[in-house]
Parts: sequence; structure tokens; C-alpha cells
Amino acid sequence: MKIYNTLTRSKQEFVPLEEGKVKMYACGITVSGEPHIGHAFQALIYDIIRKYLEKKGYAVTYARNYTDVDDKIIAKSKQTGIPADKYAADMIEKTDEIMRRFAVDDPTLWLKATDNIGNIIKFITQLINSGHAYAADCGDVYFDVTSFANYGCLSNRTVEDMLDGVRIENGEEKRNPADFALWKAAKEGEICWDSPWGKGRPGWHIECSAMNMRAFGEQIDIHGGGRDLIFPHHENEIAQTESLTGKRFATFWTHNGLIKVNGQKMSKSLGNSLLLEDLLDKYTNEAIKFALLQNNYHNDINITAELFPEAESHLSSFYRTIKAVEEKFGAGSAGNAEIDKMFDKCMDDDFNTSQALANLYGLFKGVSAKLAAGDKSCADDVLQIKRTYSLLGIFKMTADEYLSFAEKLKGEQIPAEVAALAESRWQAKLARNWAEADGLRARIEALGYAVNDGKDGYTVQKKH
Ligand SMILES: [Zn+2]
Repeated sequence: MKIYNTLTRSKQEFVPLEEGKVKMYACGITVSGEPHIGHAFQALIYDIIRKYLEKKGYAVTYARNYTDVDDKIIAKSKQTGIPADKYAADMIEKTDEIMRRFAVDDPTLWLKATDNIGNIIKFITQLINSGHAYAADCGDVYFDVTSFANYGCLSNRTVEDMLDGVRIENGEEKRNPADFALWKAAKEGEICWDSPWGKGRPGWHIECSAMNMRAFGEQIDIHGGGRDLIFPHHENEIAQTESLTGKRFATFWTHNGLIKVNGQKMSKSLGNSLLLEDLLDKYTNEAIKFALLQNNYHNDINITAELFPEAESHLSSFYRTIKAVEEKFGAGSAGNAEIDKMFDKCMDDDFNTSQALANLYGLFKGVSAKLAAGDKSCADDVLQIKRTYSLLGIFKMTADEYLSFAEKLKGEQIPAEVAALAESRWQAKLARNWAEADGLRARIEALGYAVNDGKDGYTVQKKH
């Protein structure tokens, strides 16, 4: 099995530190808002990598973290008036709930920054004592990047490169602008903990180094996260951990691509964030997974209006074939080892889910041909496809369950034409143009939808 390693910029044969075991860590979500499709993609990819390693016979310990204290969470807390710790705890609960709807499994270990303050302080103290970090008068502690010769090894940059465009911000007391904070002194009214450097909170990068050390010890096999984490986050994790241990932290560094929406970077400020919960109201979790996994996990995914509906329609068509086969020949019993072998061949090549899914079109073509010819071995093919591909989180439902669920979600979506009429009607109403508003309501109802006005807006529903 080969895995692409960001550290060596090449695909390498996977060899674990300890025979038969895998220690894997993926940087999780900073809970400053509700989970979006980028979070879902990352959680899905590492869930699949874990499951495939297990299929290969490894005992996998998979750890994921929640960053539950940081600048954005503190900003949200100020905005909403909810204390930062409560805001983060509520958001974790909500995220767990939505991820369960998305049907990705929990990791072996859930880690949280705020559960590890003692470990983090201990780690920072050791870095100071070994000359890799320094405490500034303001109460911040910084990592001295010049103290770690390999700094830049992951992102392939030199400290000089990093200095380009970096400046010391107001209030920072760094020796070198490329140094980064391990501990941040608390500002008035901010959530904080006691430390040898006064009241403050951990920087983001140190939490992952400290939690890895606690969960796994000095070395792990696979470290993962989104490609945007390579620099500075993962670079800084390497600097922190390896300065202390003198050993290679992770053998493999893996990174998934980022989400774009209609070719643009997805971001809250652009207002094009796709919340996972909204997508789950429109599409089955299997269709969302199918759409995401058609892509090699390294590559960016460009989400267009057609992406999920197309995935849903392919998946529905596969399920219809499954239904036809099962109705004619029953559930199959022997399976088909060839299908499983073909899948593993894709996955052995750096978890190539894109090729594995592409193979489905040929497989179902074969199944349909057999069905038409009355060859009942197609029931074994279908059984095998369901068994094998469930690792990717698809074909986990019965055909009837899937098809009726997808229909139901589709039925609940408001067509663009109806949505536009409803909006025009609301505007007409606000303009006190009653006749026009009534006329538009009649047109909406003629299309089979009902519009209900509330205090601050309206809702549209399919008439039942
Ligand atoms: Zn991390």
C-alpha cells in the first residue's frame, strides 16, 4: 500500500512503526461555527483511511481533536454574550450531532485543547528549558524558529521565505517575526488559565503536539489534515515535537484538498459557506459522500450547483439496479472476490477513491447485462459491491430505503421558480401592493406550494 507523503513529496510504501499497529492523528475542527462541507470532507477522508487500514489488518488508533479555545471562538463569545467555554461546548455537541447525521464514525480518541492545559503547560516548559522557546515580558511565550534546524521541512520553505511579508503585530514581543506563540497572555475579560507565565491560553499549534505526546508518545505513523494546515500549523507541530524528542514526529504527513464553490475559495466572508446541515436537508449522506469521493482526496473539490444532484442521480440509478436484481434473484450469497480485489487495488494506490467509484459504472453495466440475460451471478456481484463499497459509506441502505429517502428529500426542495415567486410576493407585500401579492400567491399555490407569513419573513412548503 502506497501513501502520498507531503514530507517527502512522493508516494511511499506504508510501513508502520510497530508491526500490525497504526497510530493516526488528524487535526479536527475549530468550533467557532457550524460544520461546513470542508469539515465533512476532512472527517470523511480520515474515517475512510482508518477503515481501509483496518481492512488491511492493522489495529488502528485514530485520534482527532476539537480546538475549543482560540481567537475566533473568543470573538464569537463576545459577539453572542455566551461565555467562550459554553459556546465551544455547545458547538461541539451540535457538530457531533450533524456529523452523526452525515454518518462518519467517531475516532478512537476525541481530544480537546481545554482538557489538556496541564499537558500543554508541561510541553511549553520543556521547550523553554531546552532553549527552544522563550517567555516575553508581556506574558506570551514564543517558539524560537532559529533553534530548530529543520524548520520549513514540510512546507519546503526557509525561514527567510517565511519572513517575507511577516511583521511583528502590535503587542507581540517576538525576537524574530517568524517565531510563533505557544502561550498567549490573556486580555481583559478573556477565558484564561493560570500558568508559570501568568494568566493566558495556549496557542493553536502547541495543542496538537501536546495531545499527540499524551495520546501516542513521541512518534506516530500518520498525521493528517487539510492542505491549508501545512504551513504554519503542521510545520509548527513538527518544530515543537521534534525539538523536544530529537525523533521524527510522523512518518507520513497526508493532506486533503480544499473546497471551492463555483471556482472560488469557500469562506464565511464571501458568504458561500456550504453548511453540512443544510446539505443533509437536501441530499442523502451517501450522495454527498459519493460527490466528494469522486475526487482524489489531494485535489481541491469545486462545488457547482450540479455536483450533489448529479451524484444523487447516479447513486439512485445504481440503487434501482440493485433493487431489480434483488427482486429477481434475491440477495446473493457467494459474493465476487474479483470486485473486492479491484477495489483494494485502487485503495492501495494512495486511497484512490476516485478510481474506485469510477469502476462502479463498469460494474453496474455488467450487472445490468447479466440481469437482462437471466444470469443470476449478478446477485453475487451486487452483494459484493454493497459489502466492498460500504467502506466508503455508500450502499449501506436497502434499495427501497435509499430510493424513498432520496425522493422525500427531493420533494421537500423548493423549485427555483417557486422560490422566486415567493420572494416577489413578499416584496409586493412589503410595498403594500396587495393585489399583486394575492396574484402571486395564487400562482404559487397553482404550482402545488403554500406560502405562510411570519413576523419577519415567510416560509414556503409543498402542499400535502
Ligand atoms: Zn493540529
